[in-house]
Amino acid sequence: MPGTLFIVSAPSGTGKSTILQRLLQVLPGVAFSVSHTTRAPRPAEQNGVHYHFVGRDEFAAVRDRGGFLEWAVVHGNFYGTSREAVGGQLARGTDLILDIDVQGTRQVRGQGEWPVVTVFVAPPSWEELERRLTGRKTDGEATIRLRLENARREMAAASEYDYLVVNDDLEEAIETLRAVIIAERSRHRRSLAGRPLALPAAAP
Ligand code: ADP
Ligand code: 5GP
Repeated sequence: MPGTLFIVSAPSGTGKSTILQRLLQVLPGVAFSVSHTTRAPRPAEQNGVHYHFVGRDEFAAVRDRGGFLEWAVVHGNFYGTSREAVGGQLARGTDLILDIDVQGTRQVRGQGEWPVVTVFVAPPSWEELERRLTGRKTDGEATIRLRLENARREMAAASEYDYLVVNDDLEEAIETLRAVIIAERSRHRRSLAGRPLALPAAAP
């Protein structure tokens, strides 16, 4: 049985990375898809763990040979999801989380190559989003402005997603996302794949 593809999107600064990092520690059987990006690494980020950090030429080469399941320009940098990595992990039965933006979500959904479950994570307010972007201390003033502008566009697409998680209380947000994944795993079409439910015989 192939794994399920979960897509999680959020305006930058909402806390999506924090939620996903914690979720992966408490939920077995789910992996994180490591994207390619031309953005410069932040101090705590490791190549191959948070992203595959590549130059624009390398990104273009992978894109031009059809190596990305989806790709987009986000906040002025290129981001893409490796088609091979996604296909391989799903085929092995691992559930996979794609942390991608609204443009990428539309591409993957539109291709219909795999069924997807989409989750939008929203901040509790605009003021709190700005506070979190500033408080993270990883981006300059101009980058923060750009990310806040883009957040308005991302928020407008929230209703396209299957689930909405508001990241007000962190623990509650992690628990809600965990519940979504566990519930999706119990869907009839995934757990039985069309087979009738056969119960083992009762013990004498
Ligand atoms: P994203 O991946 O969505 O861009 P991050 O995970 O980097 O966001 O989080 C942005 C900032 O907000 C970080 O400093 C993080 O510690 C903080 N943060 C995340 N979730 C919460 C929360 N529920 N309450 C308060 N601060 C949070
Ligand atoms: P950041 O630079 O803060 O890590 O990510 C910026 C935005 O890019 C986030 O909204 C994130 O979801 C999105 N993103 C990360 N990887 C990909 C990807 O492979 N494809 C697309 N379309 N967006 C991505």
